[in-house]
Amino acid sequence: SIPLSFFAGIGGASKEGVLVKGSNYLETLSQVRCVVFDKTGTLTQGVFEVSGVHHNEMENEKLLEYAALAECASSHPISKSLQRAYGKEIDRSRVTDIEEISGHGILAKVDGIPVAAGNSKLMKQLGIPYKDCHSVGTIIHMAVNGSYAGHIVISDIVKPHSKEAIQKLRRSGVRKTVMLTGDTGKVAQAVASELGVDEVYSDLLPGDKVDKVEELLAACQPKEKLAFVGDGINDAPVLSRADIGIAMGAMGSDAAIEAADVVLMDDNPMQIAKAIRISRKCLRIVY
Ligand code: ADP
Ligand code: MG
Repeated sequence: SIPLSFFAGIGGASKEGVLVKGSNYLETLSQVRCVVFDKTGTLTQGVFEVSGVHHNEMENEKLLEYAALAECASSHPISKSLQRAYGKEIDRSRVTDIEEISGHGILAKVDGIPVAAGNSKLMKQLGIPYKDCHSVGTIIHMAVNGSYAGHIVISDIVKPHSKEAIQKLRRSGVRKTVMLTGDTGKVAQAVASELGVDEVYSDLLPGDKVDKVEELLAACQPKEKLAFVGDGINDAPVLSRADIGIAMGAMGSDAAIEAADVVLMDDNPMQIAKAIRISRKCLRIVY
């Protein structure tokens, strides 16, 4: 039987914006010693700024238009920033054959012309030679009609409370913090060192994130639990694999909210330490 105060604990947590889906998760949450974060949208704003458009043959404006149109149906933070940078109304009837390849980018036809927007993995997959770019930021390579057309540099920004949230977790007895990302090593390292995250793994596809979480789970002591925190877009499999899956921001994807054990109502990473604190307080009352 479930002690009544477990219900009180869940109720109290929900008043603080921490939705716990079952009383058993309170106990797991209280034992979390390893916290694994997704980068984009979780530790960073997921609101990018376009910081440069570089082209070979095409006008910058035209390149940005192709990117914004091709991305018109995506809910990825990258897509949203491209829409914002383009700033004009998008006529969706110009865009057909849209295919989003998670961890890679977008394929679509714009005015019947094939357009690809994504990372170097996508260009390799298409067999399109691309120019390396040494700017700090997430590089979106563009191919138009089968040839390389240039790249767009966008920079992601760390959330205001991310660093404090990592420190708070450490003071709450979390032994290890880890960041996983599909972004490049350069961007990942910069964010990880700014935040003081213990370990960072980059260039990961959604499936690689599941494998990494399995490795980290195997490295935990028997009584130590692992939490994964993600904002949603293609994080569902990782959320279900962790001892406890935490979805951040109630505006996250439905699939993530479904797969998560704990849902944080706002997207402030300080809420993770708060969730652990609430669970421990509740268990002390019970035992
Ligand atoms: P993260 O692991 O940081 O949450 P994702 O797994 O969502 O990032 O994406 C990893 C990488 O894949 C991005 O950094 C980007 O290079 C590329 N990518 C993913 N989705 C898109 C998209 N819609 N448009 C362009 N590039 C994308
Ligand atoms: Mg993500």
